[in-house]
Parts: sequence; C-alpha cells; structure tokens
Amino acid sequence: MERNVILCDLDGTLYQDGVPFDGIVESLNKLEQNGNDIYYMTNNSSLSINEYTQKLGEIGFPCAKDSIISPILTAKSYFKSSTYEYKNIYVSGSDSVKDEFFHGLQVTSDKSAPDCILMTFNKGLSYAELQKICEWINDGIPYFLTHIDLSCPTAKGPIPDCGSIGELIFKTTNIKPIDHFGKPGDHYSNFISKYIKNSNAYVVGDRIYTDGDVGVKIGAKTIIVLTGETKEPSSIEGITFYDTAVDFFDTL
Ligand SMILES: [Mg+2]
Repeated sequence: MERNVILCDLDGTLYQDGVPFDGIVESLNKLEQNGNDIYYMTNNSSLSINEYTQKLGEIGFPCAKDSIISPILTAKSYFKSSTYEYKNIYVSGSDSVKDEFFHGLQVTSDKSAPDCILMTFNKGLSYAELQKICEWINDGIPYFLTHIDLSCPTAKGPIPDCGSIGELIFKTTNIKPIDHFGKPGDHYSNFISKYIKNSNAYVVGDRIYTDGDVGVKIGAKTIIVLTGETKEPSSIEGITFYDTAVDFFDTL
C-alpha cells in the first residue's frame, strides 16, 4: 500500500500566531500514529529549523528535525550547487537563521564585499542595514529573497514579510531580485518533490496562490482550508476546499 505524505502549511492552516486551531494537535498526532508522514511546509524564514522544531514540539505537534521545509533549506540547496558562482553571500537575517544557512555550505560571509545578498524575513532589520544593502545593490550586487509573501498573518492583522522588504528595496533601487526560494517557486517545488516519491501526496494550506499552486505543480492532492487567508471556497481545478485542516484530516 502506498504511504500518505502530508505536506502542511503552518500559519493560517494549523495555527495562528503559534496558537493551534481547535483539534489540530490531536488530529496530527493521530495521523502520525496511523503511519502517515507529516511535513511542515513554511515560507517563514524568520525562524531557523531548530527554532521551529522546538516551537512545534512545545505546541504538541509531532515534529522531527527533518519535518520542516523552509526556504532557508531550498536557498542552501541552490547555493550549494556548483552551477552558481556566488561564494561570498551576505545574509540579512537573525543569527540563528544565518548560522543555519552557512552551516555546511562552502561559502564565506565577508561582509565588506559580498557577491550576492539573501534577504530573509528579518525581524531585526535596521535602517542602517537596509541602507548598506541598497548601496550594494546600487553598485550592482545581485540580491535574492527567501520568499515573496508580502505579509504574515497575525492576530493583530498582517505584518510586513520578506516580499514587502523586497518591494521596499525595489522601489528604492529600481532593481528587482534575481529569484526567490519559497512557495510556489520552482526551487521550492523541486525541493519538496523528492519528499513525495512513491506516495499518496497531499498539500494542505490556506493560500491558493502559494500552497495551492505548489500542490498542483508537484501533482499532489491539494487542499485549501478556510481558517487563514482564503475565506470562501471557489472552483479551481485540482484544489479541494475544506473548512478546517481537521475536517480534511478526518477523511484520511
Ligand atoms: Mg499560510
């Protein structure tokens, strides 16, 4: 029998502001006990994988270190490839995210003269750092974003995410980023494709244009729930709508 691989978005799908939706913890643990493989598919690059593992464990989600797929991993995979010439990368991010990015990567981080810049969802970004980054970009240094989400949902409404930081840089310099590493881009889609080989694959999320697109792109059964950004079901080929993730999990 084929195994089930379930790739779940986090914000707006399983929790909001780290507070799990009703019944989610029990439902995920039951799925895991029944032999389903669960992965958490986030675009959020403000936390490292270690920090996510700890956070999800504390909430009570079944979570191993390799259960979390973040754009930091897909970015690492890209920069590891010998096809790309960037060897001195400036990462704008938290210390833990930077440690994770550079760990095991044969590149340097000489801050005086980077050959490219990677912007994450850096909640510690200062004006001085932003100014320095724009000066480098004005000088022709290329930049990447971890992901293009404009906002991150919170209980107090949307807050600026990496995509908005990228827009600010673009509006300032008139230079676009080279690429990004989050959902629904090709780097992320190709990266998660390896998780679903020989399986019944499901992608569960709350954003049609990120989670929905990536699920359809990799050929997974794609579920959009109405607990986050999407409020109403619609008719989109390849996507099934459920009120909550628990409602869908109950069908497995
Ligand atoms: Mg979401």
